[in-house]
Amino acid sequence: MSAGERSDARDSDRDLLAHRCPEGHLAYPGHTVCSECGEEQSETVDLSGRTAEVLTWTESVASPSGVRAPNTLAIVEFTVDGSSVRALGQTTEPVAIGETVEPVPVEQLRDPEESLRSVASQSWDGYRFAPV
Ligand SMILES: [Zn+2]
Repeated sequence: MSAGERSDARDSDRDLLAHRCPEGHLAYPGHTVCSECGEEQSETVDLSGRTAEVLTWTESVASPSGVRAPNTLAIVEFTVDGSSVRALGQTTEPVAIGETVEPVPVEQLRDPEESLRSVASQSWDGYRFAPV
């Protein structure tokens, strides 16, 4: 994938941005108010250039229309400045608990032609987690 394509992916609403409050608590997806301390989450932290640890994973073999099958999903944990934040996402290949992964941009997480929504109604790109 070229640098230009990566830049397109980062312009979408599926950026891998965690939100951070003044106390350093992280949330992904972000919220306006921190769920831990109630402060406003005024900062964003880009997780896309960081690595994470696989906490658990599952494989779905009965995927919805337009979603690959089998579909491996993992809950991963990023650690940023001593605070951790978890994210759920597809993986590029089977992973193991404790494995280190990194987000890689993909143009389509699902097949837009198989969706009930119109193709132009949303972005289809995003990130999958790949073993480092
Ligand atoms: Zn907080």
